[in-house]
Amino acid sequence: MVYKNQKIAEVAKTLKVRLDKAEDKKSILRSVELKALYDELKTMPAKDRASFGQEVNKLKSELEELVQNLESRTSNLAPIDVTAPFDVNVPEDKRPGLLPAENGSIHPLTREMTVVLDIFARMGFEAVESRQIDDDYHMFETLNFAEGHPARDDYDTFMTTEGLIAPAHTSTMQNRVLKAHKKRLENGEDIRVVIPGRVFRNEDLDARHEHTFYQLEGVYVGKGIHAGHLIATLKTFLSEYYQKDVEVKTQPFYFPFTEPSFEFALGCPFCDKAGCKVCGEGWIELLGCGMIHPNVLKMAGIDPNTYTGFAWGGGIERLVMMKYDIEDIRHFESAKLDFLRQFS
Ligand SMILES: [Zn+2]
Repeated sequence: MVYKNQKIAEVAKTLKVRLDKAEDKKSILRSVELKALYDELKTMPAKDRASFGQEVNKLKSELEELVQNLESRTSNLAPIDVTAPFDVNVPEDKRPGLLPAENGSIHPLTREMTVVLDIFARMGFEAVESRQIDDDYHMFETLNFAEGHPARDDYDTFMTTEGLIAPAHTSTMQNRVLKAHKKRLENGEDIRVVIPGRVFRNEDLDARHEHTFYQLEGVYVGKGIHAGHLIATLKTFLSEYYQKDVEVKTQPFYFPFTEPSFEFALGCPFCDKAGCKVCGEGWIELLGCGMIHPNVLKMAGIDPNTYTGFAWGGGIERLVMMKYDIEDIRHFESAKLDFLRQFS
């Protein structure tokens, strides 16, 4: 567009150049230059005002149209995948050869986790994911670990310099889950929650120990809940998971957050307890469990004289390794395709 007034023509030129570079295209319409032209119009002799005003308005309309065109062009562009492993400007034929998505598959742990959660869902358990960074309060205090208690040393935790903790067990969620659902108890319902999550320990790594692995926590609270319910729940789960009747047994153990505490063992489903390379001598120590300690219930505002409950926590990899005869836990996080393809 041509502007007869020299000044307006110059402002038009300046603003169009700026418009090309501006990220916020609309900011051009609020520019000081354009505002100055309108200010000048107000103090102008009446005889010049009409033609000057007409041209300023024309410039404003032109800019508005340009802004609108540019904005609609941007919104019609194809989205950019910022995770693509090459610059978007690299021509098609020069891009790295990538496997098409249909060559991928669901990670075996994710797939098995779905199976596990489905079984618990059928038993009325809701799933809540745990956190990957937590604090001392949830890792220890809410779980009845007194300050300086030697049991704290059993968990080789990773800590940040700010004092936050990469959770060493999914029990860090117990207090949150109990608090969030205690209203259910008042309504006469039970609390039934399973908590899958990633946990971290400063371990010496070998075929059975990883620094990063998955646990499944379970929490059940209600009136009259006892250890029989705990054993029946885990036995039902394991029979469903391994698709056969399993034998289980418990032996006394110690955890600060359960009383009594048990170590839960499974009669080997692969050799019917005769002894094999999975179990050794017929029994597999699978997880830790027990009746939730009254102090843990109290910390969540639940009266331990009225309600009782049980909790357990165990590694997911262990279950999956036994099911598929996987010899080394480190395969899961290794991203080795020859391992992963066996499950695709
Ligand atoms: Zn066996």
